Amino acid sequence: TTKREPKPKWLRVKLPTGKKYTELRGLVDKYKLNTICTSGSCPNMGECWGEGTATFMILGNICTRSCGFCGVKTGRPESVDWDEPEKVARSIKIMNIKHAVLTSVDRDDLKDMGSIMWAETVKAVRRMNPETTMETLIPDFQGIEQHLDRVLEVAPEVISHNMETVRRLTREVRIQAKYDRSLEVLKYLKDNGQRRTKTGIMLGLGEEREEVIETLHELKDAKVDVVTIGQYLQPSKKHLPVQRFVTPDQFQEYKEIGLNLGFRHVESSALVRSSYKAQKHIN
Ligand code: SF4
Ligand code: SF4
Repeated sequence: TTKREPKPKWLRVKLPTGKKYTELRGLVDKYKLNTICTSGSCPNMGECWGEGTATFMILGNICTRSCGFCGVKTGRPESVDWDEPEKVARSIKIMNIKHAVLTSVDRDDLKDMGSIMWAETVKAVRRMNPETTMETLIPDFQGIEQHLDRVLEVAPEVISHNMETVRRLTREVRIQAKYDRSLEVLKYLKDNGQRRTKTGIMLGLGEEREEVIETLHELKDAKVDVVTIGQYLQPSKKHLPVQRFVTPDQFQEYKEIGLNLGFRHVESSALVRSSYKAQKHIN
């Protein structure tokens, strides 16, 4: 059994506030808009929404994969909703979002793995919101270049793909994924003209300091531009336990190591989520 530590004080979050937050919250409730920010009760809503950033999930809310850290339901997904691109674009318009992060469940059940919907969504968002910038947080598409190319072609400002953890823990943390395949995806994107690439890892799953540093080096070799590092929190008792609450000093050290390696941006602190402060990553 794992020893349960109480949550340290730096993880206690204040409820989101602010005029912009309140206004957006009202719109989201009124139009039943789907954001990850609300469905995942993200601690950063006050901040992100205040800056005009929000995250939207496409391709349904049932995933074909079953990562041990993730709160999304696993199973047979529903059929694809071809009105989804329009719906997301309209939500972004109603909320007056300046920078949209798009993400999806993994659709290993589909021949195109969802890549066509990805491209259609980026196009629809841009058509209806020409000023809005985008980050697409994509699955690995099993590393298939044809699918990755569809996202490259529509040229979102940032393409991200999360590593989630260090090499040794990848099997345990995201059983259907592969560490090297994810690295290759990131490298492929950069080698094929993507201006900004980005990835995220979570800490507190049992990784050692040396392993985090090794991952940072490998990400640098894959030419990644932006790295986010945050504390893993268990979505429910059925998910992987938190092995450790990483201290603010340790987060800071990783940030410095990352910046010294030459990443453009490194967000590293307990409450960082991969879309936190996302707007600045377009630069
Ligand atoms: Fe939404 Fe991501 Fe910001 Fe959380 S960190 S509020 S999910 S945009
Ligand atoms: Fe969650 Fe993504 Fe893993 Fe699916 S692939 S279980 S959505 S982290």
